[in-house]
Order: sequence, then C-alpha cells, then structure tokens
Amino acid sequence: MAKIIIVGGGLAGAECAWQLARTGHRVELFEMKPEKRSEAHMEDGLAELVCSNSFRATGESAAIGLLKEEMTELGSLIMEAAYATRVPAGGALAVDRSLFSAYVTSAINQNENIEVVHKEITTLDSEELRKGDAVIIAAGPLASPSLTTSLMDIVGDERLYFYDAIAPIVSRDSIDFSKAFWGSRWKPEDHDYLNCPMSEEEYKAFVAALLAGEKVKPREFEKVIHFEACLPVEAMAERGEMTLAFGPLKPVGFIDPETGERPFAIVQLRTENKDKTAFNLVGFQTKLTYPDQKKVFRMIPGLEKAEFLRLGSIHRNTYVNAPDVLDSAMQLKARSGIYLTGQITGVEGYLESAASGLWLGISLGKQFNGKPTPKTPPLETALGALLSHLRIKTDKSFQPSNVNFGLMPGLQKKMKKKYRKEAYGIRARASFSQWFSENFVSE
Ligand SMILES: Cc1cc2nc3c(=O)[nH]c(=O)nc-3n(C[C@H](O)[C@H](O)[C@H](O)COP(=O)(O)OP(=O)(O)OC[C@H]3O[C@@H](n4cnc5c(N)ncnc54)[C@H](O)[C@@H]3O)c2cc1C
Repeated sequence: MAKIIIVGGGLAGAECAWQLARTGHRVELFEMKPEKRSEAHMEDGLAELVCSNSFRATGESAAIGLLKEEMTELGSLIMEAAYATRVPAGGALAVDRSLFSAYVTSAINQNENIEVVHKEITTLDSEELRKGDAVIIAAGPLASPSLTTSLMDIVGDERLYFYDAIAPIVSRDSIDFSKAFWGSRWKPEDHDYLNCPMSEEEYKAFVAALLAGEKVKPREFEKVIHFEACLPVEAMAERGEMTLAFGPLKPVGFIDPETGERPFAIVQLRTENKDKTAFNLVGFQTKLTYPDQKKVFRMIPGLEKAEFLRLGSIHRNTYVNAPDVLDSAMQLKARSGIYLTGQITGVEGYLESAASGLWLGISLGKQFNGKPTPKTPPLETALGALLSHLRIKTDKSFQPSNVNFGLMPGLQKKMKKKYRKEAYGIRARASFSQWFSENFVSE
C-alpha cells in the first residue's frame, strides 16, 4: 500500500483520490479552502464548480457525451455525483452545484483510505510532500501563486496565462415573465430554459451598448489569450454586429408566444438549481465592469429589473506546456515522483479535468500495486483522444483543449456531415469496449 499526496481537492484531485483509494492506497489530500481561496472559489466543499453548472451534452454523437460514458464505466465518482444531483437541462447534463459538491465531499470524507488536510501547499519542496511515495499536483487553473511560482521554477517559462470569463446569474423573481418564455430550441413544451426575445432594434441597441461598455483591464504581467470556446460576449460582438445573432443569441427554433413570430434574436437563461430559483445567462461570459454589466444586461427584454446573484468576471488560467513538461505518465520530466493532473496540464473543462484525474488515479494505483499499468485508451476513444492532446507535440503553440472529435483520427469512409458524428460515436464505443475488456475485465 502506497501513500500518495494530492494537492488540490477540485474536480481532478477528488476523482484521483477516489481512484487511488479504490485500489487500496492511502491518500493525503491537501485542500487550501476554507482558509485560502482563489478568486473564483466561494464554497467550502470539494469539487466546486466555479462557473456554469453544466457538464455539457450527453449521448454518443458528442465527444463530451462519450467521455461521460467512458468515465462512468471506469467507476468515476464525479459522474456518479453528477447523475445523483442532476437538474433538468434538455440534452445536457447539468447539476445543482451545492448538492454536487456535497455529494463528492461526503464520499471523500467517508472513505477511510483518504485523509483531507485543509492547508495550502506553498512549494513543491515542502515537508508535507516528502512524506509520500508520489505527489500529485491538482491545484487547477487558479493554483495559489506561491505554488505556481514553485512549479515555474521547476518547469521553466513554459507556463502560460489566459483568461476565462464567468457568466452572470439572475434570480427568478426578478425576471419579467410577460416577456420571457419557456422552451428549448424546437421544443416549446420543454421547461429547461427561459428565453428573452429581442426585436431587431433592441438587439442592435444591445450590441452597441456591449461594445461601448467599460471592460476590466488586464494586469500588465498577464497575457490575454481567449479560449475560443469561452469567448467573452463583448469579444464576440466585436467581430461584427450580427455575430451574436448567429451565435449564442441565435433565434432559430423559437416562436415568441406573445407575437406568434420568430424573434430577431434570443437570450437563453439556463436553470442553476433544482428549484429553478436562479438562472445563468447562457454564453454571457464577460469582462465588462460590474456597473456596466448591470446597465447593459438589464437592456435584455425581461431582465430590466434583474437581480444579479452573481456577476460575470475574468480569471487567470494556469497551465503547463504538457508535451514539453510531462512524460507519458503525467510526471514532471524535470522532477520524478511529481505528477500533474486536471486543468493545470492543459485539458479544458470540468469533466476533462476530472477525466485526467481519473486516469492518473487508475494508472498510478495499478503501478503501486505492482500490476502492469493499463495501456492508454486508443485515440478513437474520448479519453484516449484527450490524453493524446497532452502528449503529442505539434508545430502550433500548445493551448488547452476540451475533448472533441478533432482530437480523434479522421474517419476512413467519406460520409455526409449529418452521419459523421454518429460514426465517430459508434467507432469510439467499439474501441473503448475492446480496450476495456483487454485491460480490466479479467480482474
Ligand atoms: C473562472 C473559471 C471558470 C470556469 N468555467 C468553466 C465552465 O463553466 N465549464 C467548464 O467545464 N470548465 C470551466 N472552467 C475550467 C475548469 O474546468 C475548471 O476550472 C475545473 O474546476 C478544473 O478542475 P481542476 O480539478 O483542475 O481544478 P479546480 O477544480 O480549480 O481545483 C483545484 C483545487 O486546488 C485548490 N488549491 C489551489 N492551490 C492550492 C494549494 N497551493 N494548496 C492546496 N490547495 C490548493 C483549490 O482551492 C481548488 O479547490 C473554468 C475555469 C475558471 C478558472
């Protein structure tokens, strides 16, 4: 039985601890909350979701849907917690964030192989880390500054910065239901989303106000690199007056019950909790200052009197240049015995972070049990594709990635676009099943 130290009790750290404990190892999990918090962490529990409450799409024709299935089959605690605390969100898997974190925290606290220590680890040379057979850094995109500096001392200047932007949340009571209406795209009977319709005039005035709004300025030492999937709403508006109307504010599939017509644009609000008392503005990550957010977002029809339970904000994202810095076991090339997992490795997203923690926990657990480590899942699977992103050097500068079909090998057969996703899904499922039976079933 080995003793493994994990730094960070977020999505990756909690999942990794769980997997190591399942294979019989002892884990000491250092989490700096509640004494110290990053700019985005507000709650005391483990596996806190700092922004959206959605784990995105389900189903086999989405790469993230496949990842969910693979993680579930590998015994993921994060997936178990997500399904146990699910809230309605159409085809997506969204959770009640408080119940979700409470579920994970309780499972970890009750596991006799895991001890949670609420303390910040400030350096990779700290006394506490020397007591383990291995050390895993899962301190996330907002790792505490002193630990980040210590990591940078070891890996050199490959570390990069960019911002993620958080979407605001409004209270249900403050929404004007004479303007906002329920329904998902093409499904007016669904009550998973609320929609705020805009006329052409309202939309154009809104875009102009977004552009004119005051933005929070980046600090001098930080480089602003926006991740395409998480662009601030005002950055999208800067690309052209109609960009939002063809993007997150797309009205296709909606009829305003008030007018009986398709609106010019639509702002979607997604439920934040089981009781549907709070809603987030879908796609409204933002760098606008707090006063200007209130001013500009209250121009949205139905939100004139919106009470903001949380405003959007910008955040640092710390990650290493994984193909340069890590070996195939996710171990620092420059310091053996220290492993990285989660968003700090350059995966992007809640589930991707958890998946990388799951994989490290499983493989390290087996290694310490003296068993052959399982082969990495094939590139055709979602997990294999995600892990390959951390290993394969390309000509392009390394950037974080979520799981997507683009990380998988192309399909051999030509086919119409509408069948392609399905074909990726079928291939991934077959490939995962075979890999799973070769590596796990005989145990
Ligand atoms: C502002 C922001 C918004 C995001 N929004 C989304 C989103 O909507 N959807 C999505 O899929 N992904 C989102 N992400 C990306 C990412 O998926 C999440 O950050 C995810 O939580 C990363 O998981 P993790 O386990 O790597 O890190 P985290 O979940 O952040 O966990 C790291 C933990 O380590 C602790 N810690 C840090 N330093 C130390 C230390 N020195 N000692 C002890 N403990 C420490 C922290 O308190 C934290 O609990 C967002 C990221 C940021 C920064």
